[in-house]
Amino acid sequence: MLRLTDLRLPLDHPTSALTDAILARLGIAAAELSGYTVAKRSYDARKRGGIELIYSIDVDTPREAEILQREHAAAAGPSPGPRQGAAGADKVKVLPTPDTEYKFVARAPASLPLRPIVIGMGPCGLFAGLVLAQMGFRPIILERGKAVRERTVDTFGLWRKRVLNPESNVQFGEGGAGTFSDGKLYSQISDKQHHGRKVLTEFVKAGAPEEILYVSKPHIGTFRLVSMVENMRETIQSLGGEIRFSQRVDDVLIEDGQLRGVQLADGTQLRADHVVFALGHSARDTFAMLHARGVYMEAKPFSIGFRIEHPQSLIDRARFGPQAGHEILGAADYKLVHHCRNGRSVYSFCMCPGGTVVAAASEPGRVVTNGMSQYSRNERNANAAIVVGITPEDYRAYDDTADPGGSPLAGIALQRHWEAQAFALGGGEYEAPGQTVGDFLAGRPSTALGAVQPSYTPGVRLTDLGNSLPEYAIAAIREALPAFDKQIKGFAMPDAMLTGVETRTSSPVRIARGPDGHSLNTRGLFPAGEGAGYAGGILSAAVDGIKTAEAVALSILAGVARG
Ligand code: FAD
Repeated sequence: MLRLTDLRLPLDHPTSALTDAILARLGIAAAELSGYTVAKRSYDARKRGGIELIYSIDVDTPREAEILQREHAAAAGPSPGPRQGAAGADKVKVLPTPDTEYKFVARAPASLPLRPIVIGMGPCGLFAGLVLAQMGFRPIILERGKAVRERTVDTFGLWRKRVLNPESNVQFGEGGAGTFSDGKLYSQISDKQHHGRKVLTEFVKAGAPEEILYVSKPHIGTFRLVSMVENMRETIQSLGGEIRFSQRVDDVLIEDGQLRGVQLADGTQLRADHVVFALGHSARDTFAMLHARGVYMEAKPFSIGFRIEHPQSLIDRARFGPQAGHEILGAADYKLVHHCRNGRSVYSFCMCPGGTVVAAASEPGRVVTNGMSQYSRNERNANAAIVVGITPEDYRAYDDTADPGGSPLAGIALQRHWEAQAFALGGGEYEAPGQTVGDFLAGRPSTALGAVQPSYTPGVRLTDLGNSLPEYAIAAIREALPAFDKQIKGFAMPDAMLTGVETRTSSPVRIARGPDGHSLNTRGLFPAGEGAGYAGGILSAAVDGIKTAEAVALSILAGVARG
């Protein structure tokens, strides 16, 4: 197979134009094209009214060897070699199609000393569990929350009835934090071994639309994620894996720096020499337990801010101009960064086109925002977090421990402080504090909504967000919004809506591990995914789950070989 990359065509091209472009670039006749598939499709929206689609195409032709030889010679020689076809066609590269098929690193031995345990069934734990099961290691997955359908009922309990279940909510339960989300499946991690491809392929097997394999910014939306997670659970079980819900790990059994097992909330102990900790960023009690047991961890930077909502039509027009609304483009997203005078950086995060702002608290008496959407992304508002980067230096003031070097858990104290403040500002019944952008920039409390209706449920209480985050964060966001308006006209429109607070952007701690995947000071404990500070987002967490499963498998086999 040959891969053609950077093949550009106008947004509205007929299907035949793609075939013509392939034939022209390769200099072959139609009869010599055995077939082709789209490996990737993205778009370039920089030219107003002239949006182009950019393709990578895998082509099957009997002339493959000859074409590769010709391309090789052309690349080595002084002239670009024979090129045919449309203007710009000479930019299209032709290479052998890379082998992206996943290769298992191990097979479980016939008799397994002890089954590995995976704690947490978010994307990281799900993929660690799946790959361990596929290699024959029959993992036991322990998840503190409930199975996804029951969990959905509890999550709606907060959104509709203001009842928070601290063990079953947006953060905790089968599928993890990304289940009620936009289901964006892209990441900027370097992925030389194509683990991301394995994730997307497994998602398609579990019911995701095929297009996630080739569009540049795939997303799934909430409803599909729920049934996909169930299908993946069945696959793991059919391979001998076991999944236990409502099983919170409350303690670890460590002997001479080696993990020997875990203890559940009901006191049951499970022996294991290999345990994946795929806890997510909200397992504050579990982080505290691991810290108390001496597992090495450190404070890590993260970001805090608000959710902002605009009419989706405003974002579509700003990004796509006259081609806004085109079926292939869908609802537009954006990515913004501003470096402030006070040294802080403000950026947009987890942008959800055509979605809603959701209540994402996991602890009583606290309010946290996040965003989600359905596959169709056809809600009225666009939302995104607008957040300010903060560092362990910023947490010091919230650290109430006597630890002279500062507690690694101080970032959690900061989060709790501002989440409790948001709860109070929202009126104490899980409504979120909100303010229009016009009032926020003018420094006066909001008393009336403008044209943008906030989507957060159970509701938004209008107030002054000026004292809902540290001063430096407020100052930075006040400076950034007008700067963003220069990139997206209307971004700082007075009626745009801010809802707070966004505090769970990534983990406040890193549970450090070595190159072999083991914790730095506790053998057998494999910190993984977002909670351990090794991922941010569904795809990267899933990829980290695969890598951790590989590390566990190799460690088990090494132990077996040692006898
Ligand atoms: P998690 O998904 O957080 O899973 C951790 C699991 O561990 C949880 O199910 C938890 O219940 C369990 N657990 C914790 N402690 C224990 C314990 N002691 N015992 C047993 N079980 C335990 N990312 C994207 O890439 N795209 C998006 O569109 C997107 N949208 C999001 C929308 C929302 C509303 C939220 C909350 C997050 C969103 N994210 C999105 C972020 C994404 O969900 C996370 O990055 C990802 O889920 C992290 O995966 P993880 O497996 O590392 O952790």
